[in-house]
Amino acid sequence: MTNRAATNTAASENLPPVPEFRSVGVIGAGQMGSGIVHVCALAGYDVRLSDISEEQLDKALANIDRNMARQVGSGKITKDDRAAGLARIKTGTGYDIFGDCDIVIECAVENEEVKRGILKDLCGSVRPDTVIATNTSSISITRLAAVTDRPGRFIGMHFMNPVPVMELIELIRGIATEEETFAAVREMALRLGKTPASAEDFPAFIVNRILLPMINEAVYTLYEGVGSVEAIDTAMKLGARHPMGPLELADFIGLDTCLAVMYVLYDGLADSKYRPCPLLVKYVEAGWVGRKSGRGFYDYSGDTPVPTR
Ligand code: NAD
Repeated sequence: MTNRAATNTAASENLPPVPEFRSVGVIGAGQMGSGIVHVCALAGYDVRLSDISEEQLDKALANIDRNMARQVGSGKITKDDRAAGLARIKTGTGYDIFGDCDIVIECAVENEEVKRGILKDLCGSVRPDTVIATNTSSISITRLAAVTDRPGRFIGMHFMNPVPVMELIELIRGIATEEETFAAVREMALRLGKTPASAEDFPAFIVNRILLPMINEAVYTLYEGVGSVEAIDTAMKLGARHPMGPLELADFIGLDTCLAVMYVLYDGLADSKYRPCPLLVKYVEAGWVGRKSGRGFYDYSGDTPVPTR
């Protein structure tokens, strides 16, 4: 037995067993939260979705309905699957709806203070055996776990966007995460039809450690006038066989999220190579955060996106 396994077994004696996952809670009804609700509901979990904004909850339900309808149209699911999936979703603005949840996945904005506040408050509204996961793109799992009453039952579960389409889930253990927690979440990822990949708890983990500096570099390329939005995206699509150009992808992710991840890399790794491009900062300050706000490196007000530079 390794030292790590010995430590985990000893520590787990004080923790309630991980429940079988039947009901899943999701906090944050943005693009990621609604995608996670979508796949969980279709996989047969009862799902509870919470957000501070009623409007976001309504928007999320409408999006899930529309996306499931598209899947019926393409033959991926049946009409009955859609109806049964939608019937499994309940929404609310507080945390009371999570009282019967076996796992709750935090999926609010990429802001450490907001996430810490949510996690602290959440602990009082869930059962002692409920597993808590976070979908953070970059923030330390160990640090977030430390504000909860259950670091052993806390884990990073990083879904990719759009959730119904993307096959990967990164799983990130904090220093205190128990093996039972990891195993249960890994099994859930498989039940969702996803492939789990394990990443260590370093800023931005694997995917965003590599992807976000590339996106930031694309913004520098634009900022320095090396190419226009269209030239940069075309170059990377045709020159590097990327399915989306980096600026189009940045708009899709959300420029606020991109910037937040760059700050976590810059602060966490203390290396100037991760400094966020001033143009990215300016776009976020202007509220031009990409698709979700209608404008980013492209303008989305018409039928087809138009480059803004
Ligand atoms: P989003 O801006 O689309 O949605 C965020 C949601 O959080 C909004 O609905 C907002 O109302 C809600 N919210 C804010 N404060 C809240 C609070 N205190 N309590 C409850 N809800 C609150 O953001 P998103 O793109 O869905 O990202 C959510 C999380 O997922 C972030 O941590 C992000 O880093 C991560 N993530 C994003 C992507 C991506 O491509 N966008 C991919 C993987 C992971």
